Amino acid sequence: MDVPDLPSPTQLAIPGFIALILVELVVARFVSGIRYEATDTLASLTMGVGNVVEGLLLGFVGYGVLMLLHPFGLFDFGWGIGTFALCFVLDDLRYYVYHRTAHVSRFFWAAHVTHHSSQHYNLSTALRQTWTSTLSATFLFRIPLVLLGFHPVMLGFVAALNALYQFWIHTEAIGKLPGPIEAIFNTPSHHRVHHARNARYLDANYAGTLIIWDRLFGTFIPEDETEPCRYGLVKNLATFNPVRIALHEWVGIASDVTRRGLSLWQRLAYVFGPPGYSHDGSRKTSRMLKEEWAAQSER
Ligand SMILES: [Zn+2]
Ligand SMILES: [Zn+2]
Repeated sequence: MDVPDLPSPTQLAIPGFIALILVELVVARFVSGIRYEATDTLASLTMGVGNVVEGLLLGFVGYGVLMLLHPFGLFDFGWGIGTFALCFVLDDLRYYVYHRTAHVSRFFWAAHVTHHSSQHYNLSTALRQTWTSTLSATFLFRIPLVLLGFHPVMLGFVAALNALYQFWIHTEAIGKLPGPIEAIFNTPSHHRVHHARNARYLDANYAGTLIIWDRLFGTFIPEDETEPCRYGLVKNLATFNPVRIALHEWVGIASDVTRRGLSLWQRLAYVFGPPGYSHDGSRKTSRMLKEEWAAQSER
């Protein structure tokens, strides 16, 4: 069957993104706790535009690899609505695996760190996206689904729907939602925890649309109203320069890996080990920070 001409959900949604950011800006005037900073928002919007440009310029690389593998797919699922639904759920699991990897391996973190670099948490933060997804080869995570038989075009479509879903959860304007929704779906409350830099909240809630993956795989942490989320990176960037936001971690990898006197293992650990790895113990990984917090809170 011919590949259908699918629309681009995220591009169609751009006017909606802008309208909702404007609504949140108005709400922020009347509700304390919702924070916008003009330079931060401008940086986030620039990162969003750059992400689209990167997709247009380099998206063919990942798509090309997946199309080469597509003939080896096990099943022919067709293009029915049931296939789209199954594809969405399995791709959401793919997103969980990718996203968790992006937080525990510096090579993938170098691209994903962009999304966490704002110290604010508002709808514009959702648009703060990477410029280097091709460089960090995130398309590799889609290979299992292509080998199962899903078409790369369908995978791109459902991933865009997933990205669209994740837009509205980047807000402090919505508290906790009714229990069944919080139980199944990723929500503003769950994703606030994911963006928090408080030690107790680190490395949690990797979900895209369905929070069930975090609950299943033991990475779920609920938001505790007695400990408000503080946002951004463990070590915050002191810049709104989009190029530095996009590339700083890659520069860090390059400077660490070319240090004198390291073993091959140490060099590999600087590239693929956890963010915060250091051969001399001069930095801390999020696991170390979390263990320190746990030891302190037991006292
Ligand atoms: Zn993340
Ligand atoms: Zn986010």
